[in-house]
Amino acid sequence: MPFTSLNDHVESLLAAEGPLPIVAAGDPVLRRPAGPVDGQLSDGLLARLIAAMRVTMHAAPGVGLAAPQIGVPLRLAVIEDAAAVSEEVRAARGRTLQPFRVLVNPAYEAVGGRRAAFYEGCLSVPGYQAVVARHERVRLRALDERGRAVDEEFTGWPARIVQHETDHLNGTLYLDRAEIRSLSSTQTPEAVERWAQPTPERAARELGFELPPRD
Ligand code: ZN
Repeated sequence: MPFTSLNDHVESLLAAEGPLPIVAAGDPVLRRPAGPVDGQLSDGLLARLIAAMRVTMHAAPGVGLAAPQIGVPLRLAVIEDAAAVSEEVRAARGRTLQPFRVLVNPAYEAVGGRRAAFYEGCLSVPGYQAVVARHERVRLRALDERGRAVDEEFTGWPARIVQHETDHLNGTLYLDRAEIRSLSSTQTPEAVERWAQPTPERAARELGFELPPRD
């Protein structure tokens, strides 16, 4: 992307009010490892960027947004999930409330060997969802928006969000990890309803893909 400096690029992005445009798959910015946040943006500009990312995530709506998804090649992401789902879905997927968090320079590692496979989607791949088997629990190491060290474990759906967003910062899309035969349209209410069950077992049978063993 031709810009004179990251500061100027972010300033120009933030010149417009409201949600930022989301970059779609096919843009190389989503495929390059993002650079660490290391003071290249002033504290004020970083705070404005984070606020704009939060507005953009809410508007989409989504439960996470990584800076490359708005064309900013920095290791920065926001996550937040009100988990407005049925009790059945909440229990099956471990989809619990995730308060707003800022992840600066995050990295994760698996805790234990359990994996969980569910449909997920991505704001940069609109109109589709696919099943991804991910670590059920991860240890996140990062900084928060004030530069304080974070070392924390996440489980269930919040762990999925942390993995999805951190993967973006490494140039990885969820489709790289997906069961590709599970790929399904979300472009009509009927299509969304088809695989809205709490778990993807029926989708696995009918579409012909494997799920990790359940324990
Ligand atoms: Zn995504």
